[in-house]
Amino acid sequence: MNNLEFIDSSMACIRCGAPVSVKGIEVIVCKNCGGLNFSFIKNESLFVYRDSVKELIHKFKFKSRWKLGFLFADFMISRKGAFIRGYDLLVPVPLNPLRFLKRGYNQSGIIGRRLSSLTGIPFYGNLLSRRGWSKPQSGLKTLKGRYSNMKDRIYVKRRFKGNVSGKRILLLDDVMTTGITASACSYALIECGADEVALLTVARTVKGK
Ligand SMILES: [Zn+2]
Repeated sequence: MNNLEFIDSSMACIRCGAPVSVKGIEVIVCKNCGGLNFSFIKNESLFVYRDSVKELIHKFKFKSRWKLGFLFADFMISRKGAFIRGYDLLVPVPLNPLRFLKRGYNQSGIIGRRLSSLTGIPFYGNLLSRRGWSKPQSGLKTLKGRYSNMKDRIYVKRRFKGNVSGKRILLLDDVMTTGITASACSYALIECGADEVALLTVARTVKGK
């Protein structure tokens, strides 16, 4: 656990949360997301997705080590407590239904439940859902194609529609890669009247690492 490398939030892109090497300027947007339009206002991540973080997240998702979610949530509270407390609802990015059946748990939901118990912010584990079967993302070449494929698939469940309006919502996920899935979630929430949506993730992928 000693070699977990936290992202210094004063040296992170204000949109996607990736570490940047320039310090001392007021607004930092990294070159990778300068041209992209996410539906969420920003992402913050604890770690860069590599080495031991990558191994831990793999165990968390695929080896039934769901209790690692408590550790990640505790780190989130200690390092990003003020950011988290600025939101009214905690909502996990939904899993593909088949994946949920195989795994038996939504890893982002484990984190959300723990964050909720530590902060008192309501957690809605089933507010978002995935409709039908998405085409495999890897078969779609452009980011735009991938985004519209995903956008049609994610929706706010009818019984929760009244809970979203006017709310500041913090989306939770394990890893932010392209931001497409989180953008599709955020789009669905904003369509339902959410005031603002941000993303909090355990780790952020970084190109070339
Ligand atoms: Zn960025």
